[in-house]
Amino acid sequence: MQLVFHVVKNCKCGNVVYVEVPQREELSIRCPKCGASIQISADEFVEEVKLRDCEVRDWERIGALSTTVQQMVLQALESGRAPKGLWPLLVKLRDVGALICT
Ligand SMILES: [Zn+2]
Repeated sequence: MQLVFHVVKNCKCGNVVYVEVPQREELSIRCPKCGASIQISADEFVEEVKLRDCEVRDWERIGALSTTVQQMVLQALESGRAPKGLWPLLVKLRDVGALICT
């Protein structure tokens, strides 16, 4: 589980390029389809949580969360990503052993 930055850019050729980096920084990448150079400024990146392989170990603790939060956590586990705002909660759940992340 870690915080990453990602951005989705549309190339002139119509190709959609997804970039993920560990740090927010200005970047120049090449479109894998047409080879055009694509500039990305640092503030374009969106910070999010990447969960890799996480699973619920303690359903009781997850069940104690509000329905909305529960859904957010389960959705995050399913998709492997979560908004940055969920980071403190996910860390807490991992630390108490409710979530197991490899
Ligand atoms: Zn392109």
